[in-house]
Amino acid sequence: MTTVAAYAAPAAKAPLERTTIERRPVGEFDILIDIKFAGICHSDIHQARDGWGEGIFPMVPGHEIAGVVSEVGPGVTKYAVGDRVGVGCFVDSCRECEYCEQGLEQYCAKGMTATYNALDKDGEPTYGGYSTHLVVDENYAVRIPEGLALDVAAPLLCAGITLYSPLRHWNAGPGKKVAIVGLGGLGHMGVKIAAALGAEVTVLSQSLSKQDDGLKFGADHYYATGDPKTFQELAGTFDLIVSTVSAPLDFGAYLSLLKTDGALVNVGAPEEPVSMNLFSLIGGRKTLAGSAIGGIPETQEMLDFCAEHGFGAEIELIRAEQVNEAYERVLASDVRYRFVIDTATI
Ligand SMILES: [Zn+2]
Ligand SMILES: [Zn+2]
Repeated sequence: MTTVAAYAAPAAKAPLERTTIERRPVGEFDILIDIKFAGICHSDIHQARDGWGEGIFPMVPGHEIAGVVSEVGPGVTKYAVGDRVGVGCFVDSCRECEYCEQGLEQYCAKGMTATYNALDKDGEPTYGGYSTHLVVDENYAVRIPEGLALDVAAPLLCAGITLYSPLRHWNAGPGKKVAIVGLGGLGHMGVKIAAALGAEVTVLSQSLSKQDDGLKFGADHYYATGDPKTFQELAGTFDLIVSTVSAPLDFGAYLSLLKTDGALVNVGAPEEPVSMNLFSLIGGRKTLAGSAIGGIPETQEMLDFCAEHGFGAEIELIRAEQVNEAYERVLASDVRYRFVIDTATI
């Protein structure tokens, strides 16, 4: 075991503070990562504040991890010391179910092992990226291409893949009209990726306050959903709508913006159940769907794609002691567009 520095919530809703945690010894197929940067995801805040219940405390959040390999186990074949790597939302899975076999580890039939706030196969709690070091099986890391700086790469490991996977699955590309609902940490990645895939991209945001940014990220159009005329004007327009918001949506209204055979995919979700009239699906053979992050092969594909197209996330780099303040600002939607912790300051 190695003792390393970390930022942890000692109990539900308690502010995060500096502490130390134990990392397991580097096993045969493990790599030791010197973490350089860790993104702050909205779900870190939910879990540190125990919004979803059943939290394991102390909790070290962080599943947008970018760093450099500093040690490898004797059986490791994919990575060498000095390689730039990332770790996202999970650090293990069963490796033998039909989903793991297809590289869809995020849908593992036995459940993936989350990067933090979960129990590892050895029964020990997992601790995330707000830390200086991480030990992980080489099969659950991805390579960060040289062209991508580590700080702007970190948020791709959750926010980036959360948008890339549905955009690819529902075939965003040339000739397709795609709308992204919400321009936050997730939405801004959706705009960049959908534009780079060649789709015609529209942002649907509550107001026009971030319009300049949206167009700079590659959107072709920008509409305020607070304006009822938007829904009349855009009726029957889109092949695909990806919603990143966690506020309850009027699904009927958004489904009316789809073409026949269009899909409305949710990657954000309200905590409360929703009710809707299914005629809004039946009329145009429409699909209401969801999507969760992506598997290891697709996460690698996404990183390579972003490097090839020369973009990462838009970030505000912070010191570790600013994390509690950053949480408040995320909750107030006051971040352009992702906070990233410089882990050298832990
Ligand atoms: Zn996340
Ligand atoms: Zn599995």
